[in-house]
Amino acid sequence: MSILPRRFDRIKNVLNCRMKNLTVLVEAVNKPHNLSAILRTCDAAGVFEANFICEKDKVKTFNSTAQGSQKWVKINNYDTLITAVSGLKKKGYKLFGTSLNASSIDYRNFDYSENTCFVLGAEKWGLSEELISKVDESIFIPMTGMVQSLNVSVAASILLFEAIRQRQNKNLLPLNGEGLSAKEYQKTLFEWSYPELASIFRKSGRKYPNLNEYGEINEVIKNLKI
Ligand code: SAM
Repeated sequence: MSILPRRFDRIKNVLNCRMKNLTVLVEAVNKPHNLSAILRTCDAAGVFEANFICEKDKVKTFNSTAQGSQKWVKINNYDTLITAVSGLKKKGYKLFGTSLNASSIDYRNFDYSENTCFVLGAEKWGLSEELISKVDESIFIPMTGMVQSLNVSVAASILLFEAIRQRQNKNLLPLNGEGLSAKEYQKTLFEWSYPELASIFRKSGRKYPNLNEYGEINEVIKNLKI
């Protein structure tokens, strides 16, 4: 079993630019097209994983707006706001909450070149007061229109690409996989190259086999229940 060389090269090129130190936390956004658009932007910006607070269920199914990007951006579901905030802070992220409150600061005043998490709120109500009280900074994108706010996925795009712009200016964007640990890189390379096989390996609790430089599986796979 092997992957087409062109496909393997494409996967490697995308994975080489993925960053773990840039992410989003999404609270209570419930329209599938908005969730899909946020995820599609994450994929385009090189975000490795996106975080969602989803109290009851898994994140709502992604629709055609996602264009398959949900396959390429890892999704972390948190049951509660508290577990999301403490989990992300433990991982070293600085949380930039988006809020239209008078005390928020223009987003252009901050540096996003290190561990950055943009926190985005629900379509109707925005971020909860509780989450606003827990973020490190509150930021807003200045607007001059009649409508009070931007669509949440548009706000996500503006912020993520501002972080990309800053990192590009400082030569901090990964080009050769340095945005991920070696272990995470290898694991993801296998999962993206052989998604079905990866799922079978996970279910049987077995370690993924190594890939050679052409993306071929080197080892003989024995006793795998398909
Ligand atoms: N009435 C809500 C409020 O006061 O926050 C509007 C919510 S807005 C439609 C949905 C989300 O989009 C917000 O929670 C925020 O994450 C993001 N957003 C929209 N406009 C923004 C802006 N100008 N600056 C920063 N974030 C914005």
